[in-house]
Amino acid sequence: MTGAVAPEVRAAQRRIVSTINASGKLNGDGLALWREVNCGEWKATAGDISKDLDLLQVPHTIVTAFRFPLASSYSKAMREGEEVRILCKDLPHLFPWMPSLEQTVADIPADAPRWDFTVFQPRADGMTIAVMRLSAEWPAWSKKQARAARLVCVECDYDLRDKAEDRAPFDIRLSEQPKRRRLVCGKCCNDGVDEMQRPAALAGVPS
Ligand SMILES: [Zn+2]
Repeated sequence: MTGAVAPEVRAAQRRIVSTINASGKLNGDGLALWREVNCGEWKATAGDISKDLDLLQVPHTIVTAFRFPLASSYSKAMREGEEVRILCKDLPHLFPWMPSLEQTVADIPADAPRWDFTVFQPRADGMTIAVMRLSAEWPAWSKKQARAARLVCVECDYDLRDKAEDRAPFDIRLSEQPKRRRLVCGKCCNDGVDEMQRPAALAGVPS
């Protein structure tokens, strides 16, 4: 990069490079930076990062994304955060500011994990696919962390991230907790067929 660069742009560059080095996650869809909500006292918020990326003219989005609860925390709820995401196709906008990133991006394997973790939702009127709002780093979580995030089968403890063909994740909810996501592998729920037929059976409709 030649010519004069405004001091505030140079400062944004320094912050972004150190933020990416410290907490950037690269995978098949691009680069992601997760921040727990209300983290602002300790580090740059997603909004701060976004402002710097605007200064550097790097296209990006901010999405709501969740991480597993910390083992030390009393609450077992997922931790809500905001994730700044830069798509693969937009990463070249970052290269002039962070030249080392270019080789790292070139080295991403073609079969690298992606951002979305999808689950099947069997309902009486058919099967739909839902995307869980997880931080981009979910593929790297330990099994214990995946269990805390409820990404294992509630029946047999199979790690649903492994995505074996006969063990796809299905969201089968208990009738007493209709709002609580409950993941079951395809083997333990007959690929959702029983669930799709259940309300019909209750209503006396032949399936
Ligand atoms: Zn199972």
